[in-house]
Amino acid sequence: MADLQLVIKTEDDRVFYDMPEVSPCSNCGVCCKHFRVSFYQGELDSFPLGFVPAEMTRTVTPFLVCMQGTENGNENGNGRCIALQPNNKCAIYANRPTPCREFAVYMADGSLNPKCIELRARYGIPPYETPLKAA
Ligand code: SF4
Ligand code: SF4
Repeated sequence: MADLQLVIKTEDDRVFYDMPEVSPCSNCGVCCKHFRVSFYQGELDSFPLGFVPAEMTRTVTPFLVCMQGTENGNENGNGRCIALQPNNKCAIYANRPTPCREFAVYMADGSLNPKCIELRARYGIPPYETPLKAA
């Protein structure tokens, strides 16, 4: 199966990435454990046009929220987004917040994102060796 990364350009010129069922993320998931995943509260499904399940988030500031479990990043090995399942898949993939959509596995030339490689290494996961292939 070819590994593909779908690049989506939004109307306001942001770039989002979607991954297939099987991808480098399948044996990883560390960005869902390492960062505080915070974003504007307007993305919550409790707001008009919002989509992220509000019950899975925590308030950070009057305008910012974060995914529950990521409040302090992964300090002391305890951070983990509430939506990250044991198989490293996101339970709310179609409704995940913006920061999760903006982190690319592959660069524009098909090479692996160096930040991704660095993150994996921190958690003892070797670089994914398959470069991006066209369908
Ligand atoms: S660090 Fe890279 S490979 Fe791992 S889950 Fe995040 S985007 Fe996927
Ligand atoms: S919402 Fe999904 S993609 Fe985003 S950090 Fe949580 S598990 Fe990962």
